[in-house]
Formats: sequence, structure tokens, C-alpha cells
Amino acid sequence: MKLSEQLTDVERQRITSERDAKTEKEWRTTLQKLIDEQQEHITQLQQQLENTRQTSNASLKIQNENQILKKKCSDYELSLEEVGKQLQDSKLEVDGLKENTGRLKEAVWTSDKDAVECHQCSKPFSVARRKHHCRCCGEIFCSNCSNNEMPLPSNKKPVRVCDSCQAYLLERYSAT
Ligand SMILES: [Zn+2]
Ligand SMILES: [Zn+2]
Repeated sequence: MKLSEQLTDVERQRITSERDAKTEKEWRTTLQKLIDEQQEHITQLQQQLENTRQTSNASLKIQNENQILKKKCSDYELSLEEVGKQLQDSKLEVDGLKENTGRLKEAVWTSDKDAVECHQCSKPFSVARRKHHCRCCGEIFCSNCSNNEMPLPSNKKPVRVCDSCQAYLLERYSAT
């Protein structure tokens, strides 16, 4: 083989090698780019996974708090019901006390002149139907409606009381 031919051959091989090297370099670049993209994708997925995990933890925590609040709510409802019952009882007690306070305080005697009829049966007073004060409530009754004698809490000596005061006093004395 002639030297010139050999040279041409070498030159051709060199060009081929250079082209191969260039192609390989391009390939590598392309692959590296793909790998980078994949890596980025994986990082994103990991981030999403972490977010999901945090959200799920938070939602679990909220669920727990919800349960606790629900429990508290029903406890409050129960105690409110209890308080309501007690209030109702207290109100009844107060009503009873109010009613009896009227009878227990120093009876304010109704003026004789103002009374035209019996406080209980409403029959008009006349010469035949005389006026009588109940020593307990101070109202004015006919003799028929106040034909009772009872000791008062303030006075042991039996005095005239109306029918309703007698019933009240009997109940009060039998209770003590
Ligand atoms: Zn009467
Ligand atoms: Zn009375």
C-alpha cells in the first residue's frame, strides 16, 4: 500500500472516530437530561407523598379533636339539662315560698269599710251576714267561711282564721 493511500485511510478513520465520539457525546447529554428529568419527577412525587402524609395526619388530628368536642358537647347538653331541672325545682320552691310569705308576714288587715262581700264566697255583707277578719291573712270573710280557730306561728292562742288559712296552717303544723 502506498503511503498516500495509508494516510487517506488514517484520515478516514479519524473522521469516523470523531463522528462516533460526537454521536456518543450527544447520546450522553440526552441520557443525562432524561435522568435529570426523572430525578426531578421523583423529587416531586416524594414531595407530594410527604404533603399527603401531613394532610392525612392533620385530618386524623382534626377527627380526634372532633370526637373530643362532640363528647364535650353531649356532656354540656347533659349538664344543661340537669341545670334546667334544678332551675325548675328552684322556681317551684320560690313560688311556694312566695305564696306562704303572704300568709306568714304580719297580716295587713283589710279595712272594714272597703269590704262589701266575703273574700271567699263573695256573698254581700249585711246586718245578718257580719264581717270577720281572718287573723292570719287579714282578709274579711263571712262567719261561714271563717268558722275556724287556730294558733298562729306568731301566737299560740287560737284565733279566727279563714278556711284557706286553716288548711295552710294544718299542713304547716303537721309537717313540723
Ligand atoms: Zn263567705
Ligand atoms: Zn285567711
